[in-house]
This record gives sequence, structure tokens and C-alpha cells, in this order.
Amino acid sequence: MLKKMDELQKELECIYADLHRYPEEGFAEYRTAGIVAEYLKRCGLEVITEIGLTGVVGILDSGKPGITVMLRADMDSLPIEELSDCEYASKVQGRMHACGHDAHVTMLLGAARVLAESKDMFSGRIKFFFQPAEEESSPERQKKLAEAGYDVSAYASGASIFCDAGLMEDVDACAIMHVQPGIPTGKVSISKTNAMASSDMFTITLTGKGGHGAQPQGAIDPVPAMAELISAIHMMPTREINAVETCVFSIGEVSTPGSTWNAVAEKAVIRGGFRTFNQAVRDYIKKRLPELAGGIASANRCRAHLDMIQGYRPCVNDAELSAFTAAKLKELLGDENVIYTDMPAMTSEDCGIYLEKAPGVFFWLGIGEREGAPALHNPYFHMDLRALTIGVQVHVHNALSFLEELNRQGE
Ligand SMILES: [Zn+2]
Ligand SMILES: [Zn+2]
Repeated sequence: MLKKMDELQKELECIYADLHRYPEEGFAEYRTAGIVAEYLKRCGLEVITEIGLTGVVGILDSGKPGITVMLRADMDSLPIEELSDCEYASKVQGRMHACGHDAHVTMLLGAARVLAESKDMFSGRIKFFFQPAEEESSPERQKKLAEAGYDVSAYASGASIFCDAGLMEDVDACAIMHVQPGIPTGKVSISKTNAMASSDMFTITLTGKGGHGAQPQGAIDPVPAMAELISAIHMMPTREINAVETCVFSIGEVSTPGSTWNAVAEKAVIRGGFRTFNQAVRDYIKKRLPELAGGIASANRCRAHLDMIQGYRPCVNDAELSAFTAAKLKELLGDENVIYTDMPAMTSEDCGIYLEKAPGVFFWLGIGEREGAPALHNPYFHMDLRALTIGVQVHVHNALSFLEELNRQGE
């Protein structure tokens, strides 16, 4: 087994380096998808391709009755220029695998191979999802999707497209792994329930009447209204949301397009976003934002227009399954290497929609060689390659223990 793992490590390092050199945009991962489909076929899996243009699903059927477990990797990269000097640095200008999705693909391919060789060890089926576009994708790619007949009326991500295609209908449980350089190699971190927050974006335009800065009485200034609105938005979570819920707003962009210091602006625009774990809180904010904007605008003789882009929903782990996964991974990695925590991350992932369709866990796999390793989305991002086969073992262990336990419960 050890020698086998050694060989697998070498093979995976080659796959990883190749994927890292050629990062691709979300919904345009054609090269990656080709490599994935070919590898899965070679392992003897049934393979479905071109879901959401580039998505690939491998199905491994043991031939014996049982439940279906889903494991997932995302394939897209980021519009970031790589600054690391590793020998397999990106060859694509302005694009980089800075979120480790190349590692996700590599590790899931490794897991497919190991599990395909261990078909006699389980009953039921394993679905391997290689989804496109977990990160934000471009308007051009959304347009391409629409042309191909996909519903993009709400913002589409790889996970939403996979769910719309019905790929989760027969899934009984899922495990979704993401690499994390902030955690040392060999450790995993699992949230009990709340794993990652929702993320929605809004743009509010307040329109007044432009004029000379010396004569504001002849104009209608939207800037004081904007200032009031910014305060009101920041006040809302503390006054209107239950204090035990989590909700964070950030307004990252404030502008008065076309205006200058000695003028009264015609328009004031703010762009921001909010995150929470509770769908009811999310719905409440979506109702309150236009009310606040409209009320404050009209009190200031302005008009308000709000655009909301619905982002990803919260990522919430199944409490029983997260406890089970933590206990099982302790057997594999040792007690000290499994962090089982109440502390969620306020960042977002598109996998929340999978966790709504079937009970599952999202968890972090440590890939940090040393303390202070560059974070995800950092141009110096770099992973400890030793984590590749650890990731494979974690996937395999999860799949086999889920199948065994849930098949037993279903008997
Ligand atoms: Zn990311
Ligand atoms: Zn990611």
C-alpha cells in the first residue's frame, strides 16, 4: 500500500503541475475537463461530460445495492497574475490557480483511481463531481451558458448548473473538501454546522439634481442622503437582526460619477455586500435594503434605485454527518489532526446548494507547509504537495465510511 501511495504521489504531482501551469476561466475549463474525462474513463468509470459547457461527472457503481455518495472538485481558476516562483507557475498571463482548485481536481482523480481499484470493498455508488465555475464567472461566460440553453436568470455557478441538471437527485450524502494553507499539512478542520456564509451584492444609486457647489439650494445633493444610508445600513444588523445571528455588511465602493469637488453631484452610488448563515436573515435584509434606500432617498428629495445580485447561499453542514466525519477522520489522521469546530468562516462557496439537496459536509484540508503561508486568492499562493495523497486518503476514507454507515442505517 505504501509503495502504491508513493507511485500515486508521483503521478498526482505531475497532474497537479500540469493543471497549475494552464489555469482556465470558469465555464471554459475545456482542457481540464478533457484531462479529467480521459482519466476517469481509464479508471473504468461511467463518464458524463459537457454539463454547464465543461462539467464532468464520473460514476463508480459497485454493482451491489446501496446508497449514492457524492465527492466534489471545482475546476476553475482566478483572474490573478501569479507571482510565485515555483517551477510549475502559471503560463497563462493574468490567470492563476490561487484557490487550489487544481489540487481539488488532482486529489479527486486520485480518489477515483483508488476507489475504482477497491470496488469489492463497498456497496452502492460514488459520484465524482468535477464542476465548472465555483468562483465568480464573467458576463461573457454567463451569456455562453444562456446560448447553450441553461437558465442564468439567477446568477449561475457550476454547482447551481449541476443541481439544475438533476445530478443531485440520486445523491444520499456528500463530502466537499477545500484546501486551506492556513492549516498545517496533515490536518483537517470541520465545522459542526455553519461552515461558510451566504454572499449577496448590491448597488444603490441615489439620484438628486446636480449643480454648483456654491449654490446647493438650487440643486438636490444625493451625497448627504448617501451618508445617511451608509449609516443606516451599518446600523441594521445591530438593531434589527437577532444578536445571536451572524450578519456582516461591507460597502467597498462609494462614488459620485461625473462629479467633482466644487459641484453638487447628480448621482451618488454605493456598492457593497452582505453575508449571513441564516436564510431568513438573508430574506429579511433583501426586503429591508430597498425600504431603507427608498425612505432615506425620499426624505432627502432624491430617488433611489437598487440592483441586487444574488450570490451563494450559506454552506451548512449536517450536524450528524459532520460529527461522524470528524470521528472517522480521527481514525485516519489521529485525534490531534482533526479540528472539529463551532467557528465558521464568513467567506462563501457555491457548494451550499449541494448541502441543501442532500446531507453533507464541507471541510478544510490543511496544505500549509509553514506558518504564514500565503492565503487563498493570494498571488503567491503555494501548496505543500505532500497534501495531495493525504487528500486522496481523506476522500477515500470519507466515501467508504459514509457508504458503510448509511447503508447500515438503511437496512
Ligand atoms: Zn476561491
Ligand atoms: Zn475555492
